[in-house]
Amino acid sequence: MENKKVKIIATIGPASDSEAVLKKLMLSGVNVFRLNFSHATPDYFAKVIKRINKLKKKLRINVVTFLDLPGPKIRTGILPNGKFEIKEGERYILGPNGDIPVSKSLLKALPSKGKISLSDGKIQIEPLQRIKNGIVVEALDDGTLLNNQSINAANLIYEKKYPTNNDIAGIRFGLRHGINVFALSFVSRKEDIQKARRFTGKNSIIITKVERDSAVKDFSEIANESDVIMIARGDLGLNIDMVKVPFIQRKLIKEANKLCKPIITATQVLESMIRNPIPTRAELDDTFTAIMEGTDAIMLSEETAIGSFPVKSVQTLRKLIDFNYKKLNPTRYPIKVEEDALIDDVVDLARNTRIKSIIMKTSNGKNVLKLSRYHIDADIFAITNDTNTANLLSFSRGVIPIHSNRTSSAFKAVNKNYNVSRAIMVYDVPRGKKAETGLNIINL
Ligand code: PEP
Repeated sequence: MENKKVKIIATIGPASDSEAVLKKLMLSGVNVFRLNFSHATPDYFAKVIKRINKLKKKLRINVVTFLDLPGPKIRTGILPNGKFEIKEGERYILGPNGDIPVSKSLLKALPSKGKISLSDGKIQIEPLQRIKNGIVVEALDDGTLLNNQSINAANLIYEKKYPTNNDIAGIRFGLRHGINVFALSFVSRKEDIQKARRFTGKNSIIITKVERDSAVKDFSEIANESDVIMIARGDLGLNIDMVKVPFIQRKLIKEANKLCKPIITATQVLESMIRNPIPTRAELDDTFTAIMEGTDAIMLSEETAIGSFPVKSVQTLRKLIDFNYKKLNPTRYPIKVEEDALIDDVVDLARNTRIKSIIMKTSNGKNVLKLSRYHIDADIFAITNDTNTANLLSFSRGVIPIHSNRTSSAFKAVNKNYNVSRAIMVYDVPRGKKAETGLNIINL
C-alpha cells in the first residue's frame, strides 16, 4: 500500500475547479480540499462543492472539504484610480484621505513606531510622525498598491468582533451546502473560537489558523478549544518578525502532537511551482523538515488554486512525502489514564513485532489521535459510524478513516481495499450492555 502518512490539503481555485482537474487531484493523493471564502463568491463555491460531491460518489474516494473563513483581516481602502505607485524613500500620508487610505478607526489602532506591511508584505512602510488625520510614513520598498490590500503590523489587534458578519455568512453558506468543517482566520484568543462555535454548532470541526502573536502566546488554550490547528505561515510572518517563524513552527507542532490536535503546515510550500513544473531544492527541504518535525498535514495554496501546475504540485508533494516519510525518533507520552497505557502497549506491539496494521473502532476518535501522534510505521485504520469523527481523522497523520455503520462490512472493506496483513484490532468504544473501559486487543 502507498504510504500516504502525511495528509495533503489542496486549495481550489480557477486552476483546479474543473471536474477534470479535481478528479486528477483526488487520484493524486489529496486528502482534503480547501475553499478560501476570501477569494470568490458563494455561487462559485456552490458549484465547486457540487462537483466535488459528484466525484466523491463516482470515485468512491473520501475527501473532506473545508471552508476557510476570512476573519477580521485588516485592509487598506479604495484608491481614486484603483492603484497607487509607491517609491522607496518617498514619504506618503496614511489616513482616511491620505495617499494610502485607511479608515479612521484603523488609523487609531496602527502603531506610530516599527514597520507596517502592505499587500501581504510586498511593500513595507515606516511611520515617521502622527499628524491630524494621518501618519506620515516613509516607503522602504517600491511597489504598486491596489484597492483593499492587507495591512499588517506587529501586535495589531484592530477588529474586536469575532466572528465577523462575513464569517457568519460563510458558516451559514457552508452548513446549507453540507460543509461543517471551518477554518477560522486571525484568531486572537480562545473566546474567538467559542463565539464562532455558537454559529457552526457543536458538531462542526474547527480549524484554528495561528497567524497572530497572541495565538502563539496562548497556544495551548487556543489548541484545546480547537479540533485542528493550522500554522498559517503567510500572515504569521507578517504579524511577527518573519525570522521567528521556523522556530515557532517546530514548537507548535510539538505542542499540538502532545495535545492530540492534528496540525497543518501551510503556505509557500511549493511556491515556485505556481510558475514552474519543478520545485526548488529548498522547498523540498522545507517539506522534509515539517514531516520530520511531526506535522500531520501539509497545505498547498496558490500552487493548486491559481498556479500553472496544480496536479504536478500535488504529485510532487505526494512523492516527496511518501519517499521521505521515516520513523521519527521514538516518542513517549506520559501515562495519565488507563487508555494511555493501552495505547502505549499498542505502540510497543507496532514497534517490536511485524504488525503492519492497526484497526481501531472508534466513536469520537480520541484514542486514534492519541495513537497517531506516536508516528508509528503501521497503518491505523479507524472505523467509525460518525461522519464528524471520520472527517476529523482525515487530518490526522497515519490514519485511514473508514466511515461505516456496520463494523463487519467496514472490516471487510479494509481487508479488500488495503490488503491488510498482520493486523491487530483495537476497540475504544463501549461494547455490550455495560460500557467497558479501556481497549481490547485481539490478534487476528
Ligand atoms: C496564511 O496566511 O498562511 C494562510 C494560510 O492564510 P490565507 O491564505 O487566508 O492568507
